[in-house]
Amino acid sequence: MSLKYYMPTRVFMGSECIIDNREIFKTLGKKALIVTGTHSAKNNGSENDVKEALDLVGINYLVYDKVMSNPTISCVYEGASLAKENGVDFIVAIGGGSPMDAGKAIALLAAQEISEDNLFSGIYEDKILPMAFVPTTAGTGSEVTQYSILTNDKVQTKTSIAADIMFPKIAFLDAKYTQGLPVITTINTVIDALSHAVEGMLSVRATAASDALAKESMEKIISCVPDIKQALQAYISGKSTKVPILSMEKREALLYASFIAGMVIAQTGTTVVHAMGYSLTYFKDIDHGRANGLLLGDYIKLVHKKNPELAEKVLTAMNFTEVNQFIAMMDGLLGKKEKISAKEILEYSQKAINTKNIANCVVKPIEEEIREIFQASLD
Ligand code: NAP
Ligand code: ZN
Repeated sequence: MSLKYYMPTRVFMGSECIIDNREIFKTLGKKALIVTGTHSAKNNGSENDVKEALDLVGINYLVYDKVMSNPTISCVYEGASLAKENGVDFIVAIGGGSPMDAGKAIALLAAQEISEDNLFSGIYEDKILPMAFVPTTAGTGSEVTQYSILTNDKVQTKTSIAADIMFPKIAFLDAKYTQGLPVITTINTVIDALSHAVEGMLSVRATAASDALAKESMEKIISCVPDIKQALQAYISGKSTKVPILSMEKREALLYASFIAGMVIAQTGTTVVHAMGYSLTYFKDIDHGRANGLLLGDYIKLVHKKNPELAEKVLTAMNFTEVNQFIAMMDGLLGKKEKISAKEILEYSQKAINTKNIANCVVKPIEEEIREIFQASLD
């Protein structure tokens, strides 16, 4: 057997893991820039916990809380300017994938001069501010990946900065911050994690190690689906509930599954599903996880047609015997699907076929098959 495996992030998981492990911040420097979205980090207690931990160990900080969903290039240059003007030594990013991905790009741009034209070149000096991440959604796994995915208006899609120096040094996983995640965000983000695990197994770069992590992630997610569906039903029927929509045990399982699936894509990359999903997000404003979820079932169908053994491996890992069982589960989570026009299908398929994600697929779709997946996956 031969394989490569690289995951340099130190992970702390558990209740109060930030406060309990606060001394570790001292290894990153003396002044931090805390990077967040506009509201959630303040509301779920994560920003306060980080500030308290930094105060206790005598580290100064300032906050950049302007990261939007699907962060833009101008946002990360603005954050990097703030970091440079204030001479910060490290970045603490708190939030979903958007603040975490912005945090990575800010850490890179604060440490070296990179023009916008060269931002996605992949050619960087070996310099970056160290990072500590606190995920507050359970979906992207960005806390353990080397990718920063930004909205790239020049080419009208989302483009990834990928470099080993982009791995955060530290990740703190405390599920209490995810307790108040609304049901729809919970579903969209968990679908993203599931998509990472599934796509990891369908990647040419899959290894025995990444498959083992993918299976573990899938099992955890599938075990939470009945509770998630129940929460969705309660939400649809407008039944107000004072108890949290998911138990802390399930929230922990989802955060763990997302982290493990992040370790998978750090090794394998993603497939045509993510490449197609970027157009649904860029042009139709469909959440990242949902965009993948809409497409995943029909891609597995194609894999089943061309490489039944591989599809069965993925389905068995989720305890399914047929693709349609997987699609039925996803339909239950996704609800009513968005519409897509023939013109959009043509345009998005052309974009997807030209991405490097195609070469990453064991089953490489041709453009016509991509069009068919779009057609079958949306209304
Ligand atoms: P997100 O865009 O980070 O956040 C979505 C929404 O959830 C925001 O409104 C956010 O509010 C809110 N939110 C976050 N945590 C919350 C909490 N604990 N309680 C209540 N609301 C909360 O969504 P995401 O799905 O986590 O991240 C998607 C991004 O990650 C995309 O840009 C995608 O391309 C990227 N991604 C990156 C990787 C990678 O490896 N780097 C992998 C997959 C996806 P605030 O804005 O107020 O915080
Ligand atoms: Zn994703």
